Amino acid sequence: MTDQGCRAGARCSSGLGAYSDRSRGGNTRTNTGASTWHPVGLSCPVTQEGSSLLQRPDDSCGRNQSVRSPGSWLPAVCDASVTNVCNAACDFCGFARDKGLAGPKRYMDAEDFARAIPFLRRRHVRYMTLQGGEPLVHPGIVRLVAEVAGAGMQAAIITNGWFLPRYIEPLAAAGLGRLVISIDSANLGTHEYNRGLDGLTSRIKQGIRGAQARGIPVTASVTVSRLVRYEDLAKTLWHLGFDGVEFSYPRQEALGSTSLVYGEGSHLVDLTRDELLEALEAIRRLKKQFPVFNSMASLAEVGRFVRGEPQHVPCVGGYKYFYLDWNLDIWRCEAWPEKLGSVFDLDNISDQRDPCNACMMGCYRNASMLMHSGISATDALAAVIGGDVTAAVAALFRRGVAMSLWTLIREAPHIRRLTARRTKSRGLKAAAADEPRAIMDEGQRPAEAD
Ligand code: SF4
Ligand code: SF4
Repeated sequence: MTDQGCRAGARCSSGLGAYSDRSRGGNTRTNTGASTWHPVGLSCPVTQEGSSLLQRPDDSCGRNQSVRSPGSWLPAVCDASVTNVCNAACDFCGFARDKGLAGPKRYMDAEDFARAIPFLRRRHVRYMTLQGGEPLVHPGIVRLVAEVAGAGMQAAIITNGWFLPRYIEPLAAAGLGRLVISIDSANLGTHEYNRGLDGLTSRIKQGIRGAQARGIPVTASVTVSRLVRYEDLAKTLWHLGFDGVEFSYPRQEALGSTSLVYGEGSHLVDLTRDELLEALEAIRRLKKQFPVFNSMASLAEVGRFVRGEPQHVPCVGGYKYFYLDWNLDIWRCEAWPEKLGSVFDLDNISDQRDPCNACMMGCYRNASMLMHSGISATDALAAVIGGDVTAAVAALFRRGVAMSLWTLIREAPHIRRLTARRTKSRGLKAAAADEPRAIMDEGQRPAEAD
């Protein structure tokens, strides 16, 4: 999910981000679900589409006993940083244009990205968020979105909004499924000041109007920081026209990966334990006034993390959530200090199932709470298929399963509302079916000149 607001916080939290080697459990690669099964890299010879299959290693009769892994029924998510360049100057982010941390400019190669998509699909990635830096400075951003959407994945973008007036129409026609815009404060003057972008608000408004006219849901991404006045936020977000908001948690410590969404030395995210707990309480209250996509259960998990208490749900990073950078390297998550490898090796990289609760990166941990019950159910099914009823029962009665299931039920109205908008979006796109070629050509123009 980049952009500190874009995802700044989407990243871990100050103190929230610190993780221990013990809790991380090393970068061991473990197998999925039932331990007596192992994946074999088969794919459909016609579509080259993924079939993550499991095969009994002890199948001595020589017949192929492969079946589709129950774990493959659950979709995975990938956040892809398409560039390390940003046009903004956010105080709490290492990608900021004036900090000099990003080094030489990097842009993900569009041809390579297109070649990588089948590998991600075979790993069941069905939701892809393009982020940065600022993704709309990538000269081929429209093509990247078209590649994702064309592969049947939901394409989302997280942006500071500056280039939306130019890009929202071609992005919509390319198949953009969700737009996420960072907002730092209920006071839009303060927001523009932190971003270092005068006049940003009117560009954001144009982008939101353009997206919604094309049936694309628009979410605000707000980093928990000293700039947020929670009691005034609903009014600002309603006024701008957002469909919902998702909060991410602040982080000061450098991440292990290539991502720079942390604010080392930034007073804005230097929050004390009590300030973080107060912020979580304020977000809970805000849920009564505005659609907040951080579930109550995930807010409670963050609270436990801040208080140093045990977590109820392990993170899905490396199993159902991945980070892809502009070098086409795939990572367990943005916090992880070691890449899994090239995305083109993904068929040979095992799922990372060793439990990790080392940080509170909002995007990963919100997804973890939603997916935990489904993962437990598919693990149980894999155990039943493997003949291990005890393991199946244990999977179903894991800690946090009931909480995760209840979260899914409670969040269903939000999900239905966003899906309804996307359905409308698909209808509108079908009406403009002959536009994509021109759009992809348009997408090759560098955006930085704006
Ligand atoms: S500096 Fe750029 S990438 Fe970082 S939070 Fe701001 S807009 Fe997003
Ligand atoms: S796997 Fe999840 S909890 Fe662990 S460091 Fe990565 S994002 Fe944080």
